Amino acid sequence: MKRYHIWTIGCQMNKADSDFVADYLQRAGFSETEIAGEADLVLLNSCVVREHAEAKVVNKLRSLKGLKRSRPDITIALTGCLVDSRIDDLKERFPWVDLFFRPQQWDVFSDWAESYGLPGLTQGETPVPQNPPVSAYVPIIQGCDSFCSYCVVPYRRGRARSRDLVEIRCQVENLVQRGTKEVTLLGQIVDAYGRDLPSKPDLADLLADLNSIKGLLRIRFLTSHPSFMSPKLIQAIADLDKICEHISLPIQAGDNDILKAMKRGYTAEEYGTLVEHIRRTVPDVALSTDVIVGFPGETDEQFARTVEVLCQIRFDKVHIAGYSPRPQTAASRNLEDDVTPETKEARRAHAEAMQHEIATEINAAFLGSTVEVLVEDKKKGKWCGRTRGDKLVFFASEASLMGQLAKVRIDKASPFALQGTLA
Ligand code: SF4
Repeated sequence: MKRYHIWTIGCQMNKADSDFVADYLQRAGFSETEIAGEADLVLLNSCVVREHAEAKVVNKLRSLKGLKRSRPDITIALTGCLVDSRIDDLKERFPWVDLFFRPQQWDVFSDWAESYGLPGLTQGETPVPQNPPVSAYVPIIQGCDSFCSYCVVPYRRGRARSRDLVEIRCQVENLVQRGTKEVTLLGQIVDAYGRDLPSKPDLADLLADLNSIKGLLRIRFLTSHPSFMSPKLIQAIADLDKICEHISLPIQAGDNDILKAMKRGYTAEEYGTLVEHIRRTVPDVALSTDVIVGFPGETDEQFARTVEVLCQIRFDKVHIAGYSPRPQTAASRNLEDDVTPETKEARRAHAEAMQHEIATEINAAFLGSTVEVLVEDKKKGKWCGRTRGDKLVFFASEASLMGQLAKVRIDKASPFALQGTLA
């Protein structure tokens, strides 16, 4: 039996694409191996959103050079955001890689599969695994038209392209029939969904449609963009019973000049007003956000405004990263990366420490309460799953609870997770 090894780094979109390939290969008779050296096909799914991620991918690619030399029969494939239109450059840099395909370039993957003697993929195919996870990712829109000045995504993933609403519903129904209980709809700007489709459905329409699927318990979506989040969508989260009260809404910075230089399209005040509207309409909402520190020209005062906004809004989760210039982007072409690595790290650590305190307080408020958890996994002998607000919860039980909603009384809280007892 042939074996495959898939290595994935980056966002949930990459994870979804890797799952797609894994399922395809399993149906074609392959089995998975954790060891690249034992595989017949090694696929790397890359991310270049940050310099650090790109360096990891390049290291991983280099580590496969010797393997290809000792086992020329192995196929090494590369996809993800490192693969752009300049494939010839990549071929020159990494001649031991046999196949390059851009994210979701399934026609190229399909041609390779056929040349390898495997069945090709049919147009628009969205295979559903035999045993899908309790909580599954479903990409609904690919690419991005926003061109934030620091972001490489539009150059690598292209313009925004939404999937047909009926096709998405069909995929979700198939997943649910095979055991999935929760879906997370994915997009770089998930709330831009439908703008490019002839009938112009929006995310709220899609959510309303999916909400009626029997057996589906929960629906999530990410990532939102403050300029695309409409009152209709916020109302849909409040009205539709399966939509989880959790929004991932990157702010990126708290200073208006930095936001302008980032080309984010909103001010800190507008962001704050949007959050007020969301919290008024969806009172128990959990909010997570992304922040970039050390953007070109960011002063101590400007960074302090970011910290101030984080303190005011009190997010449930904040992902903080130091700025790194990415090729092709407007920021890398026009702005000097003038904040030192030490200052970036100090700002990141400062914001992180403050968020740690906030998350500790927010999570401590759950102590003694009973939450509803969708059980997704068992780790180190404990069941784990998430609340509707995306809090990770661990608890012990002898019974098999996989895929079920469990009521758990919280008796321990940390900034990252909750622990409890089955109620
Ligand atoms: S919205 Fe901005 S940060 Fe997000 S993917 Fe698009 S360009 Fe990148």
